[in-house]
Amino acid sequence: MTMMRTLSIVKPDAVHKNVIGQIISRFEKNNLQVVAAKMVTLSEREAKEFYEVHKERPFYQDLVSFMTSGPVFIMVLEGENAVEKNREIMGATDPKKAADGTIRKDFADSIDANAVHGSDSLENAKIEIAFFFDAKDLQTRTYASCR
Ligand code: ADP
Ligand code: MG
Repeated sequence: MTMMRTLSIVKPDAVHKNVIGQIISRFEKNNLQVVAAKMVTLSEREAKEFYEVHKERPFYQDLVSFMTSGPVFIMVLEGENAVEKNREIMGATDPKKAADGTIRKDFADSIDANAVHGSDSLENAKIEIAFFFDAKDLQTRTYASCR
C-alpha cells in the first residue's frame, strides 16, 4: 500500500448530467482526496495530445470531438493505491460491462460517452497530471483548526 496520485476527468457527458458532485463523492467515500481541480473546455489540440496513444484507433477523432464538446472537470486524486482504486471505482470502459456500483455503470451511456477518465498506470498518472497541472498547484491536505 503506497500513497499515490492519479488523474481523473469528469467527461462532458457527466458534466452535462450535473453529476460532478456525485462522482467526487464516490472518490471521497473510498478515501481518495482531491488535491487539485479545475473546470476547462479542452481545445482540439489538447484533446488530441492527451489521447495521442489512441491516434491509430478508429474511434480517435470521435473521442477528440466528444472530449471537446463541452467542459470537463479535471482532478488530481491522492490516496493509497490511487491509480488502481480509481479504476475500480470507475468500472469497465464499456458501461455495459461495468460492475454494479461503479461510476460508469451508473452514469455512462455508451463506450464513447463513458463519464470519466482515469490514469491506467502510475507512470501515465505522472505524465497526465503534469499535462494539466503545475507541481505548485497540487495541494498538501494539511489542516490546522482555528480556535
Ligand atoms: P479507459 O478510458 O477505460 O482507460 P481506453 O484508454 O481504452 O479506456 O480508451 C480511452 C477512451 O476512448 C475511452 O474511455 C472511451 O471514451 C474511448 N473508447 C475506447 N474504446 C472505444 C471504442 N471501442 N469505441 C468508441 N470509443 C472508445
Ligand atoms: Mg485509458
